[in-house]
Amino acid sequence: MDNPLLQKAYSPEHFRQQGHRLVDQLADHLEAQLHNENTPTLAWHIPEDERSFWNDFMEHGDENDLFAQILKRTTSVHNPKCIGHQVTPTAPITALTAMMSALLNNGMAIYEMGMAPSAMERIVTDLLCKKIGYTAEARGFLTSGGTLANLTALLSARKAKVTTDIWNQGHDQALGIMVSEQAHYCVDRAAKIMGLGEKGIRKIPVTSDFMMDTALLEREYQRATKNGIQVFAIVGSAPSTATGVYDDLDAIGTFAKKHNLWFHVDGAHGGAAIFSEKYRQTVAGIEQSDSVVIDGHKMMMLPTITTALLFKNGNYSYATFSQKADYLLVQSEDEDWYNKAKRTFECTKTMMSIHWYTMLKIYGDGIFEEYVTRLFDMGKVFGRLIEKESNFELAIPPVSNIVCFRYVDAALNPKALNALNARLRQQLLEDGEFYIVQTTLRNIQYLRCTIMNPFTEERHFKTLVEKIKRIAKTLKLTNI
Ligand SMILES: *Cc1c(COP(=O)(O)O)cnc(C)c1O
Repeated sequence: MDNPLLQKAYSPEHFRQQGHRLVDQLADHLEAQLHNENTPTLAWHIPEDERSFWNDFMEHGDENDLFAQILKRTTSVHNPKCIGHQVTPTAPITALTAMMSALLNNGMAIYEMGMAPSAMERIVTDLLCKKIGYTAEARGFLTSGGTLANLTALLSARKAKVTTDIWNQGHDQALGIMVSEQAHYCVDRAAKIMGLGEKGIRKIPVTSDFMMDTALLEREYQRATKNGIQVFAIVGSAPSTATGVYDDLDAIGTFAKKHNLWFHVDGAHGGAAIFSEKYRQTVAGIEQSDSVVIDGHKMMMLPTITTALLFKNGNYSYATFSQKADYLLVQSEDEDWYNKAKRTFECTKTMMSIHWYTMLKIYGDGIFEEYVTRLFDMGKVFGRLIEKESNFELAIPPVSNIVCFRYVDAALNPKALNALNARLRQQLLEDGEFYIVQTTLRNIQYLRCTIMNPFTEERHFKTLVEKIKRIAKTLKLTNI
């Protein structure tokens, strides 16, 4: 072959050199982010400036400088002051397994295009099922994100609970699911994709502490039924994204059983609490569920995207996409758990199981226990610190690693306070030392932090609080 570009692109020597250099760069990045207090979390640029930088770089940039620039112009999830969204600072070993997945590129749809990772996927999901409290008939698989996993679970639920053959015939009956008004927006989106429409998404109001109000379930169920809607599933959040508050899974499980509903747990963020002895009670009742989603890229230190969808009865996972309405395997040697695409939304997917398996092999499941427990502990530490500050208030005392709070000033009316907190967050973003986000709860604008980095300490929270106070003083505070 005499194609010079292809020769260059596939040169093992070139790869070796670039790889060694990049690993050194990433290790230096980690060192600076984790251990150098003065490293900013991000360097803010408005989108148009960022675009022109990269346009210019394409024309004039030095290719040897490319990776360094990417490092400089992205948000550092490994910085202990990065306490915004729920993306994990990946365990560095999983950056190496991600590289293996990218280079080996086994497509995973059928067994022989991913033999080792298919077997590992079975082992990892079996372990997760066991930790949930499921029995031997449970099965799971890995898939591309909590959003897709929630949709897949609801499709399985519909197949299992609605007797008409919707997969082949379509549907004209009114179907519905019940879910907390605080659930992640992807549940709403999944229901819309399934054609349930607005009236099919039965939003259950939350209590004053943002849990699904399970006292209202019976009334809401009867109301839906009276309106001709057949409810087939109920979704519990573990926890809900905005507040980090867990729904009462035990109560939801009991209700689901009474009405023969599919009980799905959206544990994308905090399902990993199954590993924490101290916080296991946050997911009490999870073992009653029919399916659970857990994101590895949130509370389990794995790279995006690595998600597990677990089924109490594995048979239902085989039925989701099958043409035959009555496709239910008898548990037998014929079960082809190793041909993944029968059960997943994706055809091709990454070799995501190798991240999970590698963590278990090298560190054991104790690392997940340490991680979840540490982060939830730090959520409480931050909550107590905010409680002591006269110019701050919590939306709710944190029950996990998500903390919603705001700056308050007795002289300001609600509208002005909302505007002030929005400006505080924007200034923090442009400053770049910390990365935090925001959310609106009951029309109140809150600052929102998720502690994802086990290296975040109480002193970082103190620095943040002092910084917010300083910025608030510089802003002109007037009522609107
Ligand atoms: C993050 C999250 C999702 C979405 O998961 P992705 O992996 O981002 O697609 C769904 N539900 C909850 C509760 C979440 O926190």
